[in-house]
Amino acid sequence: MSISAPTYPIDSAPVDESAISAALHKYFGFGDFRPHQREIVRSILDKRDNFVVMPTGGGKSLCYQLPACLGRGACVVISPLLSLMKDQVDAANDNGIRAASYNSAIGEPLRRDALRRLNRSELDLLYVSPERFTMDSFRDTLLSADVNLIAIDEAHCISEWGHDFRPDYLALAGIVDLFPRIPIAAFTATATMRVQNDIITRLRLREPRIVRASFDRPNLNYSVIEKDDVESQLLCFVRERENQAGIIYRTTRADVEATAEFLQANGQAALAYHAGLDDAIRARNQDAFNKDEVPVVVATIAFGMGIDKSNIRYILHGDLPKNMESYYQETGRAGRDGEPAECVLFYRRGDIPKITHFINQVVDERERQRLHASLQTMINYGGTLLCRHKAILAHFNEDYPHGSCNACDVCNGAVETVDGTVDAQKILSAIVRTGQRFGAGHIIDIVAGADTVRIRKLHHDRIKTYGSGKNKQKMYWKTIVDELLAQEVIQQTQDQYPTLRLGSRAHAILKGEHPFSIVRKQEPKSVSKPKQTPAGVYDEALFERLRRLRSTLAREHEVPPYIIFSDKTLHDMAQKFPSSIEEMLLVNGVGEAKFARYGADFMREIDEYVSSHPGAPASAQQRLDSSSAASSRPATIRRGVTHTTDQTYKLVQEGFTIGEIADQRELRPSTIYGHVEELVKNRKVADISRFVSDGQRKKLTGLFRKLGTASLRTIVEHPQAHTTYEEARLVRTCLQIGQ
Ligand code: ADP
Repeated sequence: MSISAPTYPIDSAPVDESAISAALHKYFGFGDFRPHQREIVRSILDKRDNFVVMPTGGGKSLCYQLPACLGRGACVVISPLLSLMKDQVDAANDNGIRAASYNSAIGEPLRRDALRRLNRSELDLLYVSPERFTMDSFRDTLLSADVNLIAIDEAHCISEWGHDFRPDYLALAGIVDLFPRIPIAAFTATATMRVQNDIITRLRLREPRIVRASFDRPNLNYSVIEKDDVESQLLCFVRERENQAGIIYRTTRADVEATAEFLQANGQAALAYHAGLDDAIRARNQDAFNKDEVPVVVATIAFGMGIDKSNIRYILHGDLPKNMESYYQETGRAGRDGEPAECVLFYRRGDIPKITHFINQVVDERERQRLHASLQTMINYGGTLLCRHKAILAHFNEDYPHGSCNACDVCNGAVETVDGTVDAQKILSAIVRTGQRFGAGHIIDIVAGADTVRIRKLHHDRIKTYGSGKNKQKMYWKTIVDELLAQEVIQQTQDQYPTLRLGSRAHAILKGEHPFSIVRKQEPKSVSKPKQTPAGVYDEALFERLRRLRSTLAREHEVPPYIIFSDKTLHDMAQKFPSSIEEMLLVNGVGEAKFARYGADFMREIDEYVSSHPGAPASAQQRLDSSSAASSRPATIRRGVTHTTDQTYKLVQEGFTIGEIADQRELRPSTIYGHVEELVKNRKVADISRFVSDGQRKKLTGLFRKLGTASLRTIVEHPQAHTTYEEARLVRTCLQIGQ
């Protein structure tokens, strides 16, 4: 690979580490970086090119959003998924980052507005599609604007060796010539070394800093469950996790529909999603799931690309996935917020011959071999006695450094092996003694000592093995046959009347030279249901109330609930019971802008809960203290007076405006708006004329009366409003308390 030396000067003022940490807290509300984030941010700020492979949920977006907030000029984000752009822009704006998108999905006025803001240096982030980026007129606009970083999301799309090649991405090849002074950061969740080299060469990245994060997702709990009556098993699993968001993957459209109907018929809200559904229905179902309106989606693998939802708590596979890459990618959609999530594969050895049969229909020999190899990987995974995290990482050539993950059925002792040598010998012997000419049903009948016409006619009741296994059910013998097939001790012919034949290992087992082990797994109902967050135990009733409030606010602001606060943030609130602004700002995920927008509502909800459950904070604290998994962050939370609002109150009484108070206190105006809103609610401040002019207040009050108070966004985006969320909220608060 030939890489030219950097041609751009290192000309920006250095940003020190404390400013980076402060921005992490201010914009994102996070106390710590996730692995690799700090070094990537640092290197972007040092104007180096970066190439980053980080798994889904690893926190890639923060790596370019944070430098965008710290530096001068805008970061242009090239992203292929139009459907995600709106949510990405909403999420950034909610964090107080000035973001917009420029694409064909938004109307001309919004596009003009985005460019106007870009030219006036009023944007931190501009999301564009690769197609747009290739247009000359758009490039000219960028060249004349103050752009300080180009981030390429889903960078694997530029490589023909990757699994999602997009010709549009090829046009990004000339990017370094056009923007020689601007660092480029390419991100992807999946890239083999070959794809990585290809991306770096095609983009001509200049001595990029290369980061390959671990593929491990420690918060995902993997398990495999013996598949039996799969629809009932899925129902049982879902019922035990009421209100939690989950995806159930099934292979065929027919199974997707049948499973969704089965769940619905049993009182479980669930929607179907597959490529055969009408576009509008698909979009509606995805939207309902995204917005937490329905907890479960039953889908084929067509579902998932456009999903950024961070609070998916489980991914169930009702059928064997086609390969390990797909399984990793599909299960990777769970727990992006870093909270525990479950990934369960329902698997039956008996499904394998059917899949093998389909694979054998593939005409191209190389493709057929590839499919067989992929199937074998999944069979090995299903039957493994190795830690599942370790098994998955091994597939991606990564070593798992820990002895036990404590987050899979194998490490948690839910899987055991039992010796099945003698029973395997009984089946093998029956196959040999009948000349390897019969199918599984007949062989099982012989071992189980069944009295059938066929057995009598063929005199198979006279062979030595007949009835040797009559003390066990036929179902058990079927499992042994499935297991022998899965471990390739025997094979099944693929003709119209499949028969069983011995494989190369069979003789050693028959002669007792080799043992034969069977893997035994737990029933679905005993799958442990994690209620502990990594940071300790939270108050579940309060969490439920906060979750409901989040849904209400999400409808009001017309954004998906997870954009308001992640589950992790709500868990943290339900553990720490913050009662002041300072305490609230210590909650993981509560940055200044989010606090200003939503903080007061959540604090009120917590307050109301504590009034009716006065012992709750103390017992949460007790549980936290005694929890061995307690957060390393000290539990400094104490219910008390809010000093910071009091300070604002004093300045309000002295007659200062919001801008003046913000300057004096070195806080953002939005934070001061939050304080004032709290003061208005507590009826400490009655006159808001200094913060919102009488004329503006009258106009906004009129709009609220006409359009209702449910959606702030409706008011803020109303052409006559000319207002901000903060101002509109303040006016609405006055209206709501009858002031
Ligand atoms: P990716 O793009 O790599 O899939 P995202 O950027 O969407 O991941 O981040 C996944 C989730 O992790 C988001 O909910 C985000 O807010 C959260 N997150 C990112 N960085 C941190 C951090 N340093 N601390 C806590 N949560 C984080």
